[in-house]
Amino acid sequence: MSTTSYAFPIVSIGGLPTASITRTALAQCMAQDCASAREQPDTWLPRVVFSSNGQGIALVGRDEDFARTMLQADIIHADGMPVVFASRLTANPLPERIATTDFFHDAARIAEEKGLRFYMLGATSAQNATAIAAIRASYPDLQIVGSHDGYFGDDQDAEICENIRNSGADVVWVALGKPRQEHWSIRNRSRLQGVGWIKTCGGLYSFLAGDAPRAPSWMQAAGLEWLYRAAKEPTRLGWRYLTTNPYSLYRLLRYTK
Ligand code: UDP
Repeated sequence: MSTTSYAFPIVSIGGLPTASITRTALAQCMAQDCASAREQPDTWLPRVVFSSNGQGIALVGRDEDFARTMLQADIIHADGMPVVFASRLTANPLPERIATTDFFHDAARIAEEKGLRFYMLGATSAQNATAIAAIRASYPDLQIVGSHDGYFGDDQDAEICENIRNSGADVVWVALGKPRQEHWSIRNRSRLQGVGWIKTCGGLYSFLAGDAPRAPSWMQAAGLEWLYRAAKEPTRLGWRYLTTNPYSLYRLLRYTK
């Protein structure tokens, strides 16, 4: 885990040090870090913020490189309801789930209020553009200062990071799918000096673009959002959940303390 220290408690869930924090407090933390970054642009390294769900927890057990990358995050929040359920087995249950698709709206509201600038990296260029149009419609005062699709080679990293730095972005949203987005964030952190946060966001743009509807709220609360997504996209996601759910459940029970 990074050496950055925050005021909120950390709970080990499924082997990942997970932040015990509310959505609102996480958004405030983002705003505070971005303010600090603006005060010390020449020395500030972006805080890297990942999320934990069943797929990620299974991948940590199977892929040592991914585990090492995850442990370099400054904050890992509970993206999946099963992560919250597992925390209830400990003395420190998490206050709530922070799905990135919900958190984005908390972040957008506080960014509008504080004048924070977003850069949107990832997805196809069409999906990226549609997502940005949807964000602009909901948050007219939010500054989106740049974007790039997510289909590029590692040899373009330096150029993309220079573009991000020149844009004056405070937060870079990175939607490249797991595990690419986590590796990309850690590998490029030092190229993004002065940027407040790097936040991975997986399928966020498809939700914002309206390509992937959210599960009904009762399914989200019951920890069944994965089932809804699998039913909608059985070929891509059904297989993913079938292969990761039993193993992540085992890791949630075995490595939560
Ligand atoms: N993606 C991308 N570049 C890649 C692979 C994926 O930009 O090389 C995008 C993809 O278009 C999608 C997102 O990353 O918008 C991943 O979505 P997914 O639903 O797989 O996210 P997760 O379930 O991992 O959060």
